[in-house]
Amino acid sequence: MAPEPSAPQPSAPVTPYRRVPRTDTVLADPRLAEAAVRLGPVLVKQAVRRAQDMVRAAEVMPERIGDVAVGLLPDHATTLRPVLNATGVVIHTNLGRAPLSAQARAAVDIAAGYVDFEYDTDTGRRDRRGRGVLDALRAAVPDAGDAHLVNNGAAALVLVATALAQGKEIVVGRGELIEIGDGFRLPDLLVSTGARLREVGTTNRTHLGDYRAAVGPDTAFILKIHPSNFRVEGFTSEVPVAELATLGVPVVADIGSGLLRPDPLLPAEPDAATWLRQGAALVTASADKLLGGPQAGLLLGTQELIDRLRRHPLARALRVDKLTLAALEATLRGPEPPVRRAVHIDPERLRERSAVLAAALTARGLDAAVTPHEGAVGGGGAPGVALPGFAVRVCEALAAPLRRGRPAVVGRTAQGALLLDLRCVPEERDGDVLAATVAAALSVGLIALAGG
Ligand SMILES: *Cc1c(COP(=O)(O)O)cnc(C)c1O
Repeated sequence: MAPEPSAPQPSAPVTPYRRVPRTDTVLADPRLAEAAVRLGPVLVKQAVRRAQDMVRAAEVMPERIGDVAVGLLPDHATTLRPVLNATGVVIHTNLGRAPLSAQARAAVDIAAGYVDFEYDTDTGRRDRRGRGVLDALRAAVPDAGDAHLVNNGAAALVLVATALAQGKEIVVGRGELIEIGDGFRLPDLLVSTGARLREVGTTNRTHLGDYRAAVGPDTAFILKIHPSNFRVEGFTSEVPVAELATLGVPVVADIGSGLLRPDPLLPAEPDAATWLRQGAALVTASADKLLGGPQAGLLLGTQELIDRLRRHPLARALRVDKLTLAALEATLRGPEPPVRRAVHIDPERLRERSAVLAAALTARGLDAAVTPHEGAVGGGGAPGVALPGFAVRVCEALAAPLRRGRPAVVGRTAQGALLLDLRCVPEERDGDVLAATVAAALSVGLIALAGG
């Protein structure tokens, strides 16, 4: 048995571990010292530790550790990484749902500082919080007497159920009791407020008579939920809001995706204006689905009910912050948000952009071809609605390096290939998708550097 070495012998091979430069030595690199001031020390140390791991794994020469650590530094003090969404799925919950418009981003930047958020600069007195966004909502949906905002669509339902139905009954169609994702179920959410659910009808068919028989002195309201993430086909029937509104109790309608007006491309998707006009007393929706804004929950309806919601103690716990209100106001007042543009993109334009990308990739020696590809609304919206379009088909081996690149590009792997769908990529970023794909192909050796 060899004795434990007490000190390295001059001739002994240096173990890889000993060659890993010490953290403080690496941090003395002026580029990392500057980054520690700009980004804070934690993220810089993280980058150094990852670079040390790479040296330890013999992936990197010790003398290059500074360059490698600098390369691993994030651009900003967040671990969130920007992603180019090349999946063709417009509202991708895992990719943060709706991307904000340039106007909404600018509004967030303004709101991030001191602002006249609850303050009237004319009088120097306190002003109503969120006045601008509520005005914009009422202008966008004139059928609503008033509006209120909470943190998300689920919070809107919780507030309505708590304020209006605690200890009472909510009458709801059995086919509308949905799970909204990540294991959260609307019936559980509603019952957690102390309301009782009175389920009517069957999974596939519910009639006006079912509701009529269930409505009684204990009924707080009838709840109509748009089953946004699935479709029942075949022998089905549901009761329109206009008929439910004849039963003498308020109808609360959860439209889910936040369309304020009808969208001809999405005929099955309910909108706030139509359901209010049909007699819904309240409409609830998410702001970060088809509305294309930040995460928030919209409540639109009669002045009397909105007042009750606004005054309920729970409203304070669910209230939205200034960044969200600013982004939402700019989404409502500003130009068409990216989500709407992506849904309504001209398939022909998509084909042209795909052809340009495929040709540029082919010119660099990569196999790439334009192929028809259907996009989707996603995020639990417009199930079964295919958005006609095109994608560029490349080798599946590019998926992982593209995901890990800067910026990350997330495509769709299907049929043994990677499909890059430009629907949700801002047109001015097409060149970035090209550059990222070439870089990914180089990194996995699919192509070689041209010209030597
Ligand atoms: C998405 C959705 C919800 C939940 O809204 P969040 O904003 O995600 O909380 C509730 N109901 C319906 C019908 C939905 O589509």
